[in-house]
Amino acid sequence: MKTLYDLGEFGLIERFAKQVHAGRDVVKGIGDDTAVIDNGGEEYLLMTTDMLVEGSHFLRTMMSPQEIGRKSLACSISDIAAMGGIPTYAVVSLGAPANMSVQFIEGIGQGINNLAKDFGVTVVGGDTVKNNRIIINVALLGKVKKDEVVYRNGARKNDLIFVTGPLGNSFRTRKHIHFKPLVEDAQFLVKNVKPSSMMDVSDGLAGDLGHILRQSQIGAVLFEKKIPLAKDATLNQALHDGEDFELLFTVNPDQAEVFRKSKKFKFYEIGKIVSGSALTLVDVKGKKRKVEMKGFEHF
Ligand code: ADP
Ligand code: MG
Repeated sequence: MKTLYDLGEFGLIERFAKQVHAGRDVVKGIGDDTAVIDNGGEEYLLMTTDMLVEGSHFLRTMMSPQEIGRKSLACSISDIAAMGGIPTYAVVSLGAPANMSVQFIEGIGQGINNLAKDFGVTVVGGDTVKNNRIIINVALLGKVKKDEVVYRNGARKNDLIFVTGPLGNSFRTRKHIHFKPLVEDAQFLVKNVKPSSMMDVSDGLAGDLGHILRQSQIGAVLFEKKIPLAKDATLNQALHDGEDFELLFTVNPDQAEVFRKSKKFKFYEIGKIVSGSALTLVDVKGKKRKVEMKGFEHF
């Protein structure tokens, strides 16, 4: 019997993608940070969803209810940011045990709504069910100007590769809980340089850059000495670990000067797009090695 473990998370998603019938208004369906829909207006509609499950993503002893709530929305805002968009409306579905304290559930709601307020998001509905573990699902809409949307498939040879901040060790540092979704940074980028590709790093640099490379049908070189590492993080964590929620993007070298000088936002140049289909790392001694384009997967 073939199991989900055999397929892997992304093998499973590919299978789902084959089952889908794409409507005419769908500009981008499965495969990017959010779906992109042309509903006839001046802007595209963005849509994304994320699920947080007790036992898989968090333990009640690890995170306060406010933190659980905040994170459940923050992951989705990060995906809207990665498309060059602005988040707008959310629906929140919640599963919780009957013996849970009202205070705890209200804490989750506070976490969601405090962050929602900071980012101009309104929670407009949801669903509530009894379940023996806490499950939170946030579905979030956003909007993006048609000429500012950025996909994963636009990286071109000679483009430079950037990240917005240090990578790795996000569980120890608790950055996976307290990260600020980078809507402002992404807005600065799409309004000033128009990256050729962009996504948020949620599953490790190598795995996520792998998505950009496969979808753009191109290869890349990363320079170990240029990759910013978080406190006490190893290179291996930066490449293959999860939940940094920094932005990873590529730009044409002609455009890079514009924001290298930016005072407000910091961008780290970490590599270059090259022909082929492999991901190569140049280590601190100048030696090259191939890197597996694998990040965190649920199966
Ligand atoms: P991200 O890390 O940016 O949130 P994921 O890795 O979770 O993205 O998902 C990758 C793509 O697969 C997204 O376009 C997402 O919408 C899609 N996807 C994930 N799970 C499913 C599913 N069960 N059915 C359909 N599409 C899915
Ligand atoms: Mg994403």
